[in-house]
Amino acid sequence: MDLLKQKINSEGTVLSEHVLKVDSFINHQIDPALMVEIGKEFAKRFKDNQITKVLTIESSGIAPGLMAALELSVPVIFARKRKSLTLVNDVLTSTVHSFTKNETNEISVSSKFINSTDNVLIIDDFLANGQAALGLADLVQQAGANVAGIGIVIEKSFQQGRQLLNEKGYRVESLARIQSLENGKVTFSEEVGA
Ligand code: 5GP
Repeated sequence: MDLLKQKINSEGTVLSEHVLKVDSFINHQIDPALMVEIGKEFAKRFKDNQITKVLTIESSGIAPGLMAALELSVPVIFARKRKSLTLVNDVLTSTVHSFTKNETNEISVSSKFINSTDNVLIIDDFLANGQAALGLADLVQQAGANVAGIGIVIEKSFQQGRQLLNEKGYRVESLARIQSLENGKVTFSEEVGA
């Protein structure tokens, strides 16, 4: 997605060989016009998949997840990282090790929002080692629903997430694929649609 790549080039900061900071348009300040386009692109890629729900994780997955759900005309659910006092009964939980925070969180959703007839599109902002996506897929499976695919805004293809998710049979669609963050520079994969 060219618009996204341009934004990464102009505003992204390479913090290390493994971490890209995009807090001026995704992770802190959010660019609404870009998010609308991101939602349209995900919807285009999954339009023939009879998606019934979008599932994402708080907080940075909510904006792209919401826009994708809006375009697909389905609800969006975000998994919570902290136990909410109101989230007490019939909760599905999984554990996710956070790449950026180096801590393990329990993530949860209320089972009333995902049922066995659902065909779920998982959305997240970044794909690194695939732990967030796998945790979300685990929640979908616990609900007896189907994972239709995984939509990622920025994939760091040099980390193991993409391979892990593909090995498990999941379709992964990433809007920008980064081949390397070496020498303080973002290098994109040159694949079609990357
Ligand atoms: P994974 O679970 O695939 O290892 O990591 C994905 C999660 O970690 C995403 O939800 C995202 O919040 C965070 N993350 C991973 N790598 C980066 C990065 O380079 N930059 C930012 N801003 N977040 C990242």
